[in-house]
Amino acid sequence: MTNKKALYTHVSEIDHEKYWIMCPVCNGKTRVQIYKNTILMNFPLFCPKCKFVHIIDVKELKITIKSARR
Ligand SMILES: [Zn+2]
Repeated sequence: MTNKKALYTHVSEIDHEKYWIMCPVCNGKTRVQIYKNTILMNFPLFCPKCKFVHIIDVKELKITIKSARR
């Protein structure tokens, strides 16, 4: 297999980049950081600004809101 080396390079590049999750409602910064390849399902994301817990899914930095409660 010739493409094995390329795969390793790709993985180590992703490891270093972290992104803050922004609140999907008020756009405020939360205290949760994710990687580009992080996958979250039914994650309770607390937003300190609107004081809501948003239940979210995250895939490839794309946030989907499922529900919200105080
Ligand atoms: Zn918020």
